[in-house]
Amino acid sequence: MATVSLQDIRKSFGKTDVIHGVDIDIADGEFIVIVGPSGCGKSTLLRMVAGLETVTSGEVRIGDRRVNEAEPMARDIAMVFQNYALYPHMSVFDNMAYGLKIAKTPKSEIEARVAQAAKMLQLEPYLQRKPRELSGGQRQRVAMGRAIVRKPAVFLFDEPLSNLDAKLRVQMRLEIKALQRELGVTALYVTHDQVEAMTLADRMVVMNGGVADQVGAPLEVYGNPQTTFVAGFIGSPP
Ligand code: ADP
Ligand code: MG
Repeated sequence: MATVSLQDIRKSFGKTDVIHGVDIDIADGEFIVIVGPSGCGKSTLLRMVAGLETVTSGEVRIGDRRVNEAEPMARDIAMVFQNYALYPHMSVFDNMAYGLKIAKTPKSEIEARVAQAAKMLQLEPYLQRKPRELSGGQRQRVAMGRAIVRKPAVFLFDEPLSNLDAKLRVQMRLEIKALQRELGVTALYVTHDQVEAMTLADRMVVMNGGVADQVGAPLEVYGNPQTTFVAGFIGSPP
């Protein structure tokens, strides 16, 4: 587990400012969900925590470290993407082991960690299959397994369930929450699905055009929206 602290984060692409000074302090083991309409900067914010985008100004802290300049692999995070980002030519085992191999983890340790993750995710029968031989839900589990084996303190999710049908989304949502609790990791989860936000979040962040309009527990946000935008977005009267 680790705290994550974003302090006055700003981001510009060329002359276009897309994040205008976001402050969020995330507690150890907390589940934070970022919601907001398409284009409001959710992915960009997450990618700056991951180290996949540089921060134009402000500070990103994970635990007691300032990580603005740290490479993704050196940040104690793992990220799960919407499109899973699996290697099609590699087996499930190799997909899950890939990051550990890069980090020169001993083979026996890799095998132990992949076996443990496969057990947690019910992927044991599929370890030698290729991603194309799996269902959407199973592919999503492989992406989760690849994150779990690295034993990160912080899990980052960018709309991980968007490609799944409604029934599977509900099931995977429950699995993600159970895993987060079991592993005791801090989670930062992006979605545009409000039901997902309601059920997963300890606190939610409602973003609006590069600004965090409101940060609070779901019931607090729904019961007491702080701006007209938040009220409209979550569909409750201001
Ligand atoms: P969201 O995930 O909330 O849909 P994004 O973070 O993807 O939003 O995008 C926020 C804004 O930044 C959008 O206007 C998008 O076009 C812009 N943007 C994102 N990535 C880049 C990039 N690499 N270059 C230029 N503009 C970008
Ligand atoms: Mg996005």
